[in-house]
This record gives sequence, structure tokens and C-alpha cells, in this order.
Amino acid sequence: MHIQFENTIDFAKELDNKDPLRHFREQFYIPFLNGRESVYLTGNSLGLQPRRTQEYIITELEDWANFGVEGHFHANNPWVSYHELFPQILTKLTGAYEEELVVMNQLTVNLHLLMTSFYRPSGKRYKIICETKAFPSDQYAFATQAKLHGFNPDDTVIEVMPEKGSAYISTESIINSIRTHASETALVLFGGVNYYSGQVFDMEAITKAAHEAGAMCGFDLAHAIGNVPLQLHDWNVDFACWCSYKYLNSGPGGVAGAFIHGNHITNTNIPRLGGWWGHDKNKRFKMEKEFTPMPTAEGWQLSNAPVLSMAAHKAALDIFEEAGLDALFSKAKKLNDYLLFTIDTINNKYPEPAMDIITPRNNTERGCQVSLVMKRQGREVFESLKKNGVIADWREPDVIRIAPVPLYNNFEDIFHFGEIVTKVLG
Ligand SMILES: *Cc1c(COP(=O)(O)O)cnc(C)c1O
Repeated sequence: MHIQFENTIDFAKELDNKDPLRHFREQFYIPFLNGRESVYLTGNSLGLQPRRTQEYIITELEDWANFGVEGHFHANNPWVSYHELFPQILTKLTGAYEEELVVMNQLTVNLHLLMTSFYRPSGKRYKIICETKAFPSDQYAFATQAKLHGFNPDDTVIEVMPEKGSAYISTESIINSIRTHASETALVLFGGVNYYSGQVFDMEAITKAAHEAGAMCGFDLAHAIGNVPLQLHDWNVDFACWCSYKYLNSGPGGVAGAFIHGNHITNTNIPRLGGWWGHDKNKRFKMEKEFTPMPTAEGWQLSNAPVLSMAAHKAALDIFEEAGLDALFSKAKKLNDYLLFTIDTINNKYPEPAMDIITPRNNTERGCQVSLVMKRQGREVFESLKKNGVIADWREPDVIRIAPVPLYNNFEDIFHFGEIVTKVLG
């Protein structure tokens, strides 16, 4: 349904009153800035702390105090199987089956582990196709993986660019690039959502094109998971990985996750790096020499579970479960539509727009992030936001990223953002 928005505090408050998820905000610590509750718009960078997180971690600390090593088997949630709590919860967030999911390590580590398995150059087929301006850690991973196989990264990594005059990359350009390089491409690897522009890529179409070219296809879902709906299994994505501290609110440097499609999980011919936690769990403590990987995504685990970090992850994911994804995604759309409306309202006051929106307008191509190129007074606007209690994100030379999220942001937050920007631009 199309809503006629209004740029007034009363209207924002009315939207908040009607919001079925409004009480979830109370479950989070909202940081203070200059002595009062901030307007926190950087949930895409570090999600806020759920109030219950401390309790979940303290439970594990107490079990450690009480049981020592016996906690592996006798803790309330035995640590030896703590990671097994996650696949079921993650099925909805990822659109995957339990056996395709594992929570382990950190994002860039998982990217390397999965590239070890799924970037398998052979002969002329060795190139990696990705988006231009991929997150730096991913660029470093692509380049060093290329080197590991003896290739020159400049010749190996193909970056798909936006068309002239556009800030984001059309699906057509991506597919054309995959087709053009079909015979030489080993791997297509995109972000699910680009961290800079906030563009949601058409993961299904990209996967299909990659497979038609005979290449593997993976996604870095750092900015996608918990932000936009995912159907990794049905889209036939070969592998994916993500971090848990952005939209998933699981704490700085929190434990990450990985998806490996059911088509691959039992294939023991796929090369991988092994560790004891990936070994058949029925024989793990026999400490035998031969590595027999678990026939699930768990077979890619290396180390025993970082339980304290996983406790924070569990606390955060339980909230997603309670709120329900349909309700969250629907509120996210409305919040971000309201943000775009607010920005348009400000821009319309001037003969030349003060801010260019570089995130796609089409709401299937964006999630909880709107990126703005400031045409004038950018730094001044950003400083004033900070001075007035708004926490946003600045990227040199002139980009402000704003990410209202449905669990703890409200429409009033967006009104306040607009109010401050309006004041500075005059
Ligand atoms: C946030 C982010 C990272 C960070 O990697 P870590 O291993 O968690 O430090 C990597 N890639 C992308 C696309 C990101 O958005």
C-alpha cells in the first residue's frame, strides 16, 4: 500500500505508534551522545547490544566457573555442541537447510576457507568476477588467493563497473560480463549488498549466469544477512559467508557464519583445510589420524566453538526469531521509504539537489541503507549530525551512509535526521 508521507514530527510519531515492532527498541541499549540518547543510524556497521546479551554471556561464564572442563558436556548448553544451536535459527535468515549452515570463525577467514574449496582454477579458467569497490578485505582475499595459485591478481580479478552516469551496477552489466568472460571464469563472487552504495544484487540471476558459464558462485553477505530476504538454497548459490556484528547485532568481532550448498556438502573430493571440529563428531575424541569430514557444512569447521561470542550471537538471533522476519523486512521498507521521502523533501527546496542518492530507488534493490553523495557542505552536515546526537557514517571524500534498522530505529529517528540536515543546508 502506498502511504502519503509527511515530513513532520507528529506524522513520524503516528507511524511509530502504529508500528507493531515498536517495543523491540526497548530490548536494546541505545548509546548516549552528549548526555542524551543518540539517533543511531549505523546498524549496518555495528549493530546495537541487546539487553539480554549480558545474561547469555554470564550464563556461560558461570558454567565455566562451576564446571571447568566438564562444561563441555554439562553446561546448560554443552559447549561441545554449542554451535549446533545455530543452523535451525539461521534457516529463515538465509533460506537454507540446517545441514548447509555453520557458525564459525570470522568473515574474512570463512571467505578464505570457502575460496580454498570453491575457487579451483584450471587451465584457462582462472578468473574471479566481482563488483567494483568490493569491501577492501574481500579485495585482499581475491588478490591473495590469486597469488596463492600463482596468478597475477591484476590479470585475474575482473571488476564489474556501473554504466556511465550510474552509481550502481545493473544486473545486465553483471550478466554481460559473466558471459563475455564465460570460458575463463572460475568464480563469480559478489557482496549480497554492496557496503558502499547499499545496492542489493540480484543473487539468483547472478548465480544462474555464473552456472551457465561453468563457474562457481559465492556471496559475501556481510551487509545482506538480517537486512534483506535470502533464499540461498533455491537460488543454487554454491557458498556464502557473513559476519554477525552488523545487522545481526552479535557484538564487535562476533562469530561469523557460512553456507555451503547441499550439492557440495558430502563431496569429499572438494579440497578443504581440515581441523578436528570438522571431523566426524562420533569419532572426534578417538583422536585418530585420518580426517573424515562431517557430511554437512560443519565439515568445514576447524576449531572448537568460541562459546562466549556464540552466546552473544544466540541472544541476538533469539530476538530476530521473536520479531519475525516478515514483520522486520516490511518495517525496514517503510523506514527506508520514509528516509528517501525525507531526503527528497529537503532536496526539492533547492534548484540543485544538495545530496545525490547513490542507492537504487527501487525497493527490491535496497535494504536498510541509503548512501548520499553530498554535493555541498558534506563535512559540515556530518559534523552537525554528530553534534546533535546523530551517529551516522562518513566515507571520504563526500559520502554519508544512513542505515535505519527495524529492530531499534523508529520513524522519529528519521525525522530528527532530516531536521538537522535541513538546518545546516539553510
Ligand atoms: C564488514 C565486512 C567485512 C569485515 O570482515 P571481518 O573479517 O569481519 O573483519 C568483510 N567484507 C565485507 C563485505 C564487509 O562488509
